[in-house]
Amino acid sequence: PPAPPTASGELFARAHAVTPGGVNSPVRAFNAVGGTPRFIRSASGARLTDVDGNDYVDLICSWGPMLLGHAHPEVMAQVQAAVARGTSYGTPTEPEVLLAEEIVARTPVDKVRFVSSGTEATMSAIRLARGFTGRDVVVKFAGCYHGHVDALLASAGSGLATFAVPGTPGVPASSTELTLVLPYNDRAAVEKVFAEHGDRIACLVTEASPGNMGVVPPEPGFNRFLAETCTRHGALFVSDEVMTGFRVTREGQWGLDGKAEGWRPDLITYGKVMGGGFPAAAFGGRADVMSQLSPEGPVYQAGTLSGNPVATTAGLATLRLATDEVYAHIGAAAETIKVAAAEALTTVGLPHVVQATGTMFSVFLTEGPVRDFEDASRTDAPAYAAFFHAMLERGVYLPPSAYEAWFLSAAHDDRAVQTVLDALPHAARAAAAA
Ligand code: PMP
Repeated sequence: PPAPPTASGELFARAHAVTPGGVNSPVRAFNAVGGTPRFIRSASGARLTDVDGNDYVDLICSWGPMLLGHAHPEVMAQVQAAVARGTSYGTPTEPEVLLAEEIVARTPVDKVRFVSSGTEATMSAIRLARGFTGRDVVVKFAGCYHGHVDALLASAGSGLATFAVPGTPGVPASSTELTLVLPYNDRAAVEKVFAEHGDRIACLVTEASPGNMGVVPPEPGFNRFLAETCTRHGALFVSDEVMTGFRVTREGQWGLDGKAEGWRPDLITYGKVMGGGFPAAAFGGRADVMSQLSPEGPVYQAGTLSGNPVATTAGLATLRLATDEVYAHIGAAAETIKVAAAEALTTVGLPHVVQATGTMFSVFLTEGPVRDFEDASRTDAPAYAAFFHAMLERGVYLPPSAYEAWFLSAAHDDRAVQTVLDALPHAARAAAAA
């Protein structure tokens, strides 16, 4: 018999009539796993409640931002106080200064500029790198996502080290023909393009530790090698920490490599956690580079809602509450889930590899190691779809795509983790049968 109608199903049908695909960001639509996305009515701590009244342990955490869990009481109190003072003035405000100071204190950036999304942050960082160097070419890695920036929605053309082709209709070839796309973790490919095009390269942009093809950590020394190669050729090294910033450690991925090794990126982009669940993002870096931004310098960049007082208040409250204990707690919960997921998949004989950077991890249904996008693409997508739905039926909302990190929060307590552990063996069996 057909499944009974649900409130989520009815909303999805109505959404389809007025919004392309029924969603405002593609991965929410369940296209990769099939079925109807759950429309969420409310969230608290580690849990989501949908419009039908079903509860889920949330392993999406808004795709990273909710480091402290949903509706954290202290964050909510500060947000409510901020809202009561008005929501946007179009003037400078104190919370912007406080949040900028907090970010500068935690990270190697000298100065930051706030924007409203990760896309804007990387787009602006690239413009600044081009303006600062007077060069046009941008190098990126296949499988790294930096938002829907024209120049970065690029696929490798035929053959290595050739200029890229648009990754989607609507991006002119003229936007991507200045972009070079390389395989991740491939030093030889990086050396080759810098040898051939070094004097034209404005910047190399990379996810600090890729999470958008699943978690594919940089091999030891890889980020340092990238930073040094850029410096040698007069290009800027742009580290995209939109996902990893203030999540994998309190200092982001830089806290795991650059800090210990004694180097820093020229520019870093942030988003997600630093907005505390509101639209806030940033790019920052070397003072001499950031000084080229308007109104101090000639490189134009602006935003009506940039540094919005409610968003920056939420971000500041979140960062101030993101103590070492928070990261230790998330790390321990991640470890428990990683071990249990691997055990469940081993039991059913399904090839898999669990990869992590700091507290961020993902599960690939393929033999490891996964060191670049080509490896990641071998993950068994139909098996993941079955795995995903078995988890959902048992009250765990995983990312609806095989190429995403699983996100935890400080609010994922023993009970929430136990719900995940109880569901995993069922999901592994479903995946093995797919
Ligand atoms: N960079 C990275 C590494 C990201 O993960 C994302 C979003 N997932 C972005 C940039 C784009 O951010 P936004 O969706 O806020 O535009």
